[in-house]
Parts: sequence; C-alpha cells; structure tokens
Amino acid sequence: SRRVVIVGGSLAGLKAAQEARTSGFTGRLTIVGAELHLPYDRPPLSKEFLGGSAAVQAPFLPGAHELAEQLGVETILGEPATAIDMTAQRITVGTSSVAYDSLLVATGSTARRLGDTDRLRGVETLRTLDDAQRIGTALRRGDRPVVIGGGFIGSEVASAARSHGLDVSIIEAAPTPLVRAVGETAGEWLSRLHARNGTQLICGTAVESLSGDERVEAIHLSDGRSLDADLVVVGIGADPATGWLDGSGLELDNGIVCDARLRAGDNIWAAGDVARWWSEDFGAPLRIEHWTNAAEQGAVAMRNLLNPQEAMSYRHIPYFWSDWYGSRIQLVGLASGEPTVVTGDPATDVFVALYREGDRLVGALALNRRSDIMKYRALIARSASWQDGLALAEERNRRMV
Ligand code: FAD
Repeated sequence: SRRVVIVGGSLAGLKAAQEARTSGFTGRLTIVGAELHLPYDRPPLSKEFLGGSAAVQAPFLPGAHELAEQLGVETILGEPATAIDMTAQRITVGTSSVAYDSLLVATGSTARRLGDTDRLRGVETLRTLDDAQRIGTALRRGDRPVVIGGGFIGSEVASAARSHGLDVSIIEAAPTPLVRAVGETAGEWLSRLHARNGTQLICGTAVESLSGDERVEAIHLSDGRSLDADLVVVGIGADPATGWLDGSGLELDNGIVCDARLRAGDNIWAAGDVARWWSEDFGAPLRIEHWTNAAEQGAVAMRNLLNPQEAMSYRHIPYFWSDWYGSRIQLVGLASGEPTVVTGDPATDVFVALYREGDRLVGALALNRRSDIMKYRALIARSASWQDGLALAEERNRRMV
C-alpha cells in the first residue's frame, strides 16, 4: 500500500498525521522526529511552563499519545532525517533508509545562537521542552537572569522571571524591540509593558561578550556596561530547519520554497515554520513562525498530498499571540508600515491599532482586546478596505463604552 512519511514530529507533523486518518487514508503512515518526545506544544513553554511551579505538566499536544495505537502511525523518534534522495524516493535516518511514496516535510525552525557563547553553562536558547526544563529549574532556583533579545520569546521569558519575583534585564541591540514584527511605533508601545512590570529593558546596545569560568557569570555590553548573570537566555530569532536538505534538489530560500498549494517537489510537500509558500491572499511569498499557521498548514498540506489532482491553494491570514505579565498581545495579518490607533490608548494596557497598505486594511494589533481581533482577521480575509477597518473599530468602540 501507499506509504506516506512525515519528517518532523511536532505541531504541523501531528496535525498532518491526524488529517490523513480523518480523511480516510488507510495506508502506511510514519513520523520521523529528531526529538525523543511525542509531539508537544511550544507556546506554553515560555508561558505557564516557565512561569509556573515545578509541578506544571509537560504540554503534550492533544492526540500525541494516541498516535500509535489509535491512529496507527509508526514513529521513529530521537534521530533526525539527514538527507532525501528524490530519485529513489528515500530519506536517510541514522543508518537506515526509509522509503516514501509521498513525503511531508515539517521540520520547523531552530533557535539562533549567539556565536559559541553556549559553551558556558547557564547560556540557553528556548525552543524545546528540554530547554524549558533547564531554564525553568534555574528560574525557580532564583538564578540571576538576563535575556538577550527583546522579541516575543525573550519578553515572555522576562515575564516568567518576574512572576518568580526575580530582577531581570533584557538586552536589545536595536533602538526599539520588535520592529520587524510590529513596526517601530508599536514596538515602542509594547516595550513599555516591561518598565510597567519591573523589567529593565536596555536598547541600542550589543552584547560584546559573556564571561565566566565554565558557568556564565557576567554579560559585557558594547557601551562598556556589565551585568551579573547566572542564567542568560538568548532569544534572537529562529531559522528554518533546512540544513539537512542542502543538496537535495529542493529549492531552499529562507525555508522550503513551495507553490500556493504547499508542493515543494515531486511527491514532496511542506508545512509549518519551515515552509515558504506563495500566499494568494497577499500576492507574495510568506514564511510564518506561528502556531495557527503550522496547525492549519499541516492539515492542508496532507490533504493536498493525498489528493494532488484536487490540491487547493493554502489560504491563510496570519494570526499570532503572546502573553506578557498577564497581558495578551495579538496580531493578525501583516504589520506593514506604521499602525494607527483606533481603540484604547497605547499608554494603557488596552489598545487596538490597524495597519494599511494603500486603501487596504492589512493588519491589526491588539493588547487585551481578545474579542476584537478575529473580527479584523475576517475583514482582512475579505480584502477589506481601510474604511471598512475604521467602521469596524467604531462599532467595537461603541460596544466598549
Ligand atoms: P516545530 O514546532 O519547530 O517542530 C519541528 C520538529 O521537527 C521539531 O520537533 C524538530 O526537532 C523536528 N526536526 C527538525 N529537523 C528534523 C529532521 N531533520 N528530522 C526529523 N525531525 C526534525 N506561536 C504562536 O503563534 N504563539 C505563541 O505564543 C508562540 N509561543 C512560542 C513559544 C516558544 C518558546 C516557541 C519555541 C515557539 C512559540 N510559537 C508561538 C511558535 C510555534 O510554536 C511554532 O510556530 C510551531 O511550533 C511550529 O510548528 P512546526 O511543527 O512547524 O515546527
């Protein structure tokens, strides 16, 4: 019978496997995953799992424990795939070779490191459950934390440190954090949450070096300052996990290049953080490192893989959330240019701001306005105009008062 192999045993890979069975695929289904763990959820790692007590359970994804028995999925865990032979339709895993009729690549992304600083103990990145376990232990022990990088993950780590009552600093090389994610103005608004919650944010200064004897002891900044630290969490972004595909013949360019239907090559499809597909919604290639995209894309890529003749374009308006100090930040669509505030006030803990491209509404950013954001997402999906966005804001504001 037909054999489908999924490489990457996390969110996109699990959703793909579940979708295969839901849509009636009865052939052989295999997941190859580099981590030993069954599929777990990453967003809680930097939130409840780090901020909570040691008793917080590892966040396995719903259905992870049912893969083998109920879904009949074979799992090969604990070793990465290292190569694809597209002609023979085989992948290499350790010393064995696994044949496929169709392949779905969902290898996600890996945390960027800061030079070779992680030779010092106490210097961590946060991507896996094992990373979160080490960082959580250090925070609960009361280690002095410093975060490098004022992005979403770094900010969540700082927030977790504060919830353990620790003094924490964030070092951000750019003058303002989150410029690429939300633009300069909104980056400035969001970064004020740090000061309001007792985190020291140091911007515009690069990390020159880390010092310590085996274990990290201090961070030295290019402006001459030094900070003591026993725990340094490096949160400077992630890269698509495509190293194992070099020379495979697949087109790689900041991710696996796919068409609008998520097809990457002959009988090869891709989904999740690793996939760069042609977005028909925005008429541009997109690669997104968000939970909702990985989940939805895993399912769509699998449907297309199983039925290539009827493959459909992947339509998706990006959605992302982050939790800092008990506040929820949400972003939908594209954060293009500088936003306009339409609800609340960025000096407080509640606001909504909208992004436009010409006369089109393309994005919305909300702080603690959970019920609004999906309404903007629906508007953006309909290619709504800027005026439509303003009208929705007016309607939502009437409800708020
Ligand atoms: P991944 O989750 O990266 O999984 C890929 C898997 O493939 C990994 O297990 C990896 O080990 C494995 N793999 C890699 N290479 C190979 C290989 N060669 N062979 C076999 N296996 C391989 N998103 C949000 O929208 N909101 C949030 O609040 C949020 N918080 C986050 C917090 C943290 C700490 C992190 C790390 C991420 C967060 N994200 C958040 C992002 C979200 O978790 C990712 O978008 C999502 O995990 C992507 O899923 P994926 O399956 O594509 O890739």
